[in-house]
Amino acid sequence: MNTETIELASATPGLRHSLRVLRYGQRGCGPKAMIQAALHADEVPAMLVAQALRERLGALDTAGQLLGEVVLVPYANPLGLAQQLLGQHQGRFDLRDGVNFNRHVPDVSATVAAAVQGRLGNDAAANVALVREELRRAVGALSVRHPVDDLKIQLLRLAIDADTVLDLHCDADATLHLYGLTPQADLCAELGALLGVEAILLATESGDSPFDEACSRPWFVVQQAHPGHPVPLACFATTVELRGEADTRHEFAQHDADALIEFLRRRGVVAGTPAPLPAARCAPTPLAGSEPVVAQRSGVVVFHLAPGAQVAAGEVVADVVDVDSGEVHPLRAVSAGVLYARCATRWATPGMRLAKIAGTALARTGKLLGP
Ligand SMILES: [Zn+2]
Repeated sequence: MNTETIELASATPGLRHSLRVLRYGQRGCGPKAMIQAALHADEVPAMLVAQALRERLGALDTAGQLLGEVVLVPYANPLGLAQQLLGQHQGRFDLRDGVNFNRHVPDVSATVAAAVQGRLGNDAAANVALVREELRRAVGALSVRHPVDDLKIQLLRLAIDADTVLDLHCDADATLHLYGLTPQADLCAELGALLGVEAILLATESGDSPFDEACSRPWFVVQQAHPGHPVPLACFATTVELRGEADTRHEFAQHDADALIEFLRRRGVVAGTPAPLPAARCAPTPLAGSEPVVAQRSGVVVFHLAPGAQVAAGEVVADVVDVDSGEVHPLRAVSAGVLYARCATRWATPGMRLAKIAGTALARTGKLLGP
């Protein structure tokens, strides 16, 4: 195992942040996996899973059981880790400008699709090598103005040529779920079965370039732009939501790390025969069908259903209790599906998303990760 420290660009004299990168296996040899924890810095269960992965990967490496390369970033956002405001950790948004740390990750799709114009052939492996080379070049050419840009670019540089990118997050109060690219539904389902996720949300573009899509979509865009040449989707990237913010339990972390290692075995990164795939606990559904349960007024939130609950169309998900009138306003689901996440607060304000249901009745458009 090699440890690398990447000093991030500084915008403040005397203040530096750095990224720690743990590398396992042999660099440039075999399939590559990049795993990062807590790009939203207050999603700490992901960092506990990274520690469990570190133990396993260290042991596998020592035993010569790594056939590929694994890059592990155990805390992906030191800038967000440092953000404390009035006693609360604020790790999701950059306090400078309110921008979500997992949005506006540089999207090099168009650059790379243009760069390979006229250079693709009929050999899929050669096309993959060419696209990878141009991906590295495009990310290498990105310019940095601020530490947050640098953070996103440095992480992207570690991930852009990987075969597998696992971006480990959690939701506020949630059951295991994951996000992926629609044409990679099968790999999402495979990882989902190993982890035991209860929702898999798919889109070809969710909006505002989250990290996983910045890694996986360039392949999709190149494929669409050059239909006459074989270009496989050579990077599988997914956002793995490891339950809720408060779900730091060693047994969860051990279970999740085992599932992720088993997924790497199936990808040829780890040696050994994969175990039979467990039965899936859900089928993938479109992210466009994810129903936000939105408060219409302010009040006290009382949930009727816990994360993981099956919801029937028309069923009451939560009440919002008006503290002026005493009226109880039930919020009903439009879709049948799985209630996969709830907000952490119990005070609603108008327009606030209180819960999310993985359903199939809706066909939302636009930016799909917001309410
Ligand atoms: Zn997150």
